[in-house]
Amino acid sequence: MVNIAENIKTILEFYQAMGIERIPLNIEKGSRGQGVKGSTYSTRTLVASSDSPRREPSNPRTLDKKSALKELRDEIGDCQRCKLSKGRKNIVFGEGSIDAEIMFIGEGPGEDEDIQGRPFVGKAGQLLTSLINKMGFKREDVYIGNIVKCRPSHNRDPEEDEINACSPFIRRQAEIISPKVIVSLGRISTQTLIGLKIPIGKLRGKFYHLENIPLMPTFHPSYLLRNPRDKWLVWEDAQKVLEKIKK
Ligand code: URA
Repeated sequence: MVNIAENIKTILEFYQAMGIERIPLNIEKGSRGQGVKGSTYSTRTLVASSDSPRREPSNPRTLDKKSALKELRDEIGDCQRCKLSKGRKNIVFGEGSIDAEIMFIGEGPGEDEDIQGRPFVGKAGQLLTSLINKMGFKREDVYIGNIVKCRPSHNRDPEEDEINACSPFIRRQAEIISPKVIVSLGRISTQTLIGLKIPIGKLRGKFYHLENIPLMPTFHPSYLLRNPRDKWLVWEDAQKVLEKIKK
């Protein structure tokens, strides 16, 4: 019985992957099923209802989060909400585990990120990845995003209108992922998320909140590439984050 359910689920998942949202089911009214002859059924509902217990995701919210993130990505679409759209190659939506305990939020894509459509894949990204690893995680275990999703030309700071147009999306990503801690990387990210125009050197190392999520500001990896002696301060901040997620 379990095998039949598994097989039906596989077929329905295949239909879903092919973009088929609804399938016709010829069930006579009054027969054992609840269907009506000629009606169509959502493949999504059918996949969910044919799930055997063994195939349930470990976190029941995982499916919701996945579809909420997809809906958000669809809403962004081929975004033209600000002038950064004119010079971009790719929208860098963000990536990582939807069940991440830690979410890192940077400023905006650089050249490598714009080309690959992925956050933090250049030199600063390598440094961020090594911090994540030192903290005991793989990159895929955490979630990584940015305040703006399109590259500001020549890596200039994103401007206020660009931040205002884009930052609601990373806030919603944070709400969907709902990590145990957010780490804001650098001045732009931190000031945008906590709404205080105070230098990052003064903000870092103490917890703030984004909605109800504890947020730890720290230096941006690009700053650390220029000022490697401050790496130990970031490591101090990272220890506080690790303490917080243990609780
Ligand atoms: N710097 C950022 O702030 N974000 C990236 O994705 C890459 C570099």
